[in-house]
Amino acid sequence: MKRGILVSQFSTLENYFTEKREAHLEELKQFLRIPSISSLSEHKEDMQKGAQWLADSLSKAGLENVIVDKTSGHPVVYADWLHAEGKPTMLIYGHYDVQPVDPLNLWETEPFEPQVRDNKLYARGSSDDKGQVFMHVKAIEALLQTVGTLPVNVKLLIEGEEEVGSPNLEEYIENNKEKLAADVIVISDTGLQGPGQPAVCYGLRGLCGVQIDVKGAKSDLHSGLYGGGVQNSIHALVSILDSFRDAEGTIEVEGFYDNVRPLLEEEQEAYKALGFDEEELKKEVGVNELFGEKGYSHLERVWVRPTLEINGVFGGFSGEGIKTVLPSEAGAKITCRLVPDQDPDEIVTKLRAHIEKNKPVGVTVTVTEFDKGKPFITPFDHPAIQAAGRSYEKVYNVPTAYTRGGGSIPIVAAFDEILGLPVVLMGFGLSTENFHAPNEHFHLENFDQGLRVIGDYYYELAGLSKEDLKK
Ligand SMILES: [Zn+2]
Repeated sequence: MKRGILVSQFSTLENYFTEKREAHLEELKQFLRIPSISSLSEHKEDMQKGAQWLADSLSKAGLENVIVDKTSGHPVVYADWLHAEGKPTMLIYGHYDVQPVDPLNLWETEPFEPQVRDNKLYARGSSDDKGQVFMHVKAIEALLQTVGTLPVNVKLLIEGEEEVGSPNLEEYIENNKEKLAADVIVISDTGLQGPGQPAVCYGLRGLCGVQIDVKGAKSDLHSGLYGGGVQNSIHALVSILDSFRDAEGTIEVEGFYDNVRPLLEEEQEAYKALGFDEEELKKEVGVNELFGEKGYSHLERVWVRPTLEINGVFGGFSGEGIKTVLPSEAGAKITCRLVPDQDPDEIVTKLRAHIEKNKPVGVTVTVTEFDKGKPFITPFDHPAIQAAGRSYEKVYNVPTAYTRGGGSIPIVAAFDEILGLPVVLMGFGLSTENFHAPNEHFHLENFDQGLRVIGDYYYELAGLSKEDLKK
């Protein structure tokens, strides 16, 4: 099978984007003028407006079955084009909601009055994520206008609650499994590795956390009367906390590393190729030495290894002077970043067992669980990942970086789990673009190049069979 877009088709596409550039930017500005802030109830109507604007834009692009669909919260927008018989189907996910804009006085221009300065488009949502969603709409439109057809089937699911944690999306996906059935999910809501440096992120860490509450005597005790004879709850807590990891950073919870997927040699090579500067990092964060598990580079520690961190401790007296007291209560919050194939529920069970085993005498300990998120990975050598790398390379003319993220995007894991599909994070933002902060902007060279990458990627996917794409 012939792979990728034909040269003639690619240049037609390029000409189209060049010719329409101003018109496209004007359209994007219209989208950006709608203050679709999902977290603020006074913008409820704007959310509806944002969804409707997007739906109209999708219809205009030639997509079908366009619908602004209700959820218990803000609506989702769905559209599809399913005429590439026998070809794979891609599900494109993004969001049309944006973050609040305060503090407003730090914006150089109005957040919802888009302005281009220095080839950057300034507006709330320009990078995260309206700009990136819009690129898919225009790539589809361009192909339908020039080639007259799409090389793959596409479905778009654009939600309005990403910035508030997607509280209703999982349910929507569950209830619409058939409608959303696809072979691959493409999400453009992340970033490049750096300017001119494309990246495909193929894995993210998961999360679980607990609060540990230690209780000793029924009230604080005078250390002159009881000190040395009754357990001190802070000492008890410290002893539990200290048992979690050794001096070299290895976590000592039994079975903690059992399901950790080993790092492939190819992955190791790919990270090395990034030439990450650990000296620079030390300066940036202000430390003399980096710290982490022995035998791993910094990127490996933050991308592919799990963690256990104490996030806060509380208890006892911390006011001015001294207070000779045996505190009755003490507590701590800890969280773990998890990697494939660790299961958050299992890890919490192991944490509970560890705490129980290491609990000093004379106190009771309560463990409270917090929200959990599963880690996610699409194998590094998955054809959909490698194809994305080729599309970036073709347009940016440099090798694509293959990265993993140390953070968590819970909805990605939900897609992975409910629909069981490979997920490709194909982002075009830059970490310096102030998303979630004043003066959010989008580098327009990545808008221009991104359109071409996306157009090319549709053809790359068309060259793969449904069988190839199976996870
Ligand atoms: Zn986003």
